[in-house]
Amino acid sequence: MQILIATGNKHKLSELSRLLPAAFSSGEKIEYLGLADFAITLPEETGSTFAENARLKAVHAAKQSGLPALSDDTGLLVDYLHGAPGVHTARYAGETCDAAANNQKLLRALEGVPFEKRTARFKTVACLAWPDGNMQLFEGICEGHIAENYHGTNGFGYDPIFVVDELGKCFAELTADEKNAVSHRGRAFGKVRTFLTTFHNLRLNIPKMV
Ligand code: IMP
Repeated sequence: MQILIATGNKHKLSELSRLLPAAFSSGEKIEYLGLADFAITLPEETGSTFAENARLKAVHAAKQSGLPALSDDTGLLVDYLHGAPGVHTARYAGETCDAAANNQKLLRALEGVPFEKRTARFKTVACLAWPDGNMQLFEGICEGHIAENYHGTNGFGYDPIFVVDELGKCFAELTADEKNAVSHRGRAFGKVRTFLTTFHNLRLNIPKMV
């Protein structure tokens, strides 16, 4: 069975390849394809929630490709900023900004705010959609704080300034496997993994999904 991974982000593709199962528990192999294998452009992320954006991308990709498609939408919610940057996490410092500009803007917005008030969480919503529009959502959350300075060089995005509460370290100080074990995406895709490995049973119960 083939599943299309509906993301244009190569960092994400590489993280996901470590998180998803190679086969159903029946032994049937799963082949993951990228958007590069299809002439599909993902729709604009116009939703007001992560779930809406994940659904927009997966349902579109599944309908266009005729294959089950998996997408995710992630954002950073900072309590002191009333949940910002939220669905605007990728473009926090402007439409064409990079990670450095986003991190700088966030550190400035929290200048002088003590560590205990810098609570934040990353949230991922993954969506697995079928060509008929049927879909299933999976959520993962990682609780943390926004650091006062940069720590570590691994990862991407806000990794150098997001301290994971349960480890007391920034994401950028972790290896890919250490990050996946506690991250929002690791948790959401852990649920996808469980769903996929038992899918040969679920397929019998949900005729529209076949
Ligand atoms: P996306 O929906 O997965 O593309 O995530 C939106 C934005 O959130 C990205 O452009 C990054 O800036 C940020 N982001 C998502 N996941 C992570 C992560 O694991 N670490 C740091 N930043 C992330």
